[in-house]
Amino acid sequence: MYNQIKLNYEFDALQPHIDALTMETHYTKHHTGYTKNLNEAALKAQVDHLPIEELLKTLETIEDETLRKSIRNNGGGYYNHNLYFALMSPDGKRVPDGKLALAIDEHFEDFQQFKEQLTKLALGQFGSGWAWLSADETGKLYLSSSPNQDNPLMDNNGITPILGIDVWEHAYYLKYKNLRADYVKEFFNVIDWDVVADNYQRVIK
Ligand code: MN
Repeated sequence: MYNQIKLNYEFDALQPHIDALTMETHYTKHHTGYTKNLNEAALKAQVDHLPIEELLKTLETIEDETLRKSIRNNGGGYYNHNLYFALMSPDGKRVPDGKLALAIDEHFEDFQQFKEQLTKLALGQFGSGWAWLSADETGKLYLSSSPNQDNPLMDNNGITPILGIDVWEHAYYLKYKNLRADYVKEFFNVIDWDVVADNYQRVIK
């Protein structure tokens, strides 16, 4: 059974950056839907015993094409949104510190450059998808974007996302309409860098 994470803030807690109706719809409709559909498909494909990370790394071993596609889309949706909703907070740390801050400076020169590069990927993703900050076990950082509900785990090359920006229109359209750039800019005001640092710590060896 794959469980949707519990939010430790209210739907309206991220205002004015992310509006309450978007948060409620995103969490109770979209994320709940991905979770339900993943559980159904994983049960049918008899892969529901796998931790979600393992499942996403081994999609190609699922023989039934319909189930494989469903698990890719809904398993990606499930994993991505668990990551996304956990790393937002009304009162989190708004800039990285510690080991992750050092790594960001090392890889991207400074936090500002990092933000610009990640923003560029988020805005450049045509249609629905995600922009990612990921890490490997040596602590190396990577930026990327992917379509649909795909994520870097699906490449199974040792890279794990530690921060994801959802750029599906359902993440911002009610408030920002077609202005994805405004949403992405505001998104940096709700990132809790303590959570991202915890994610980083879990990936590195
Ligand atoms: Mn979404």
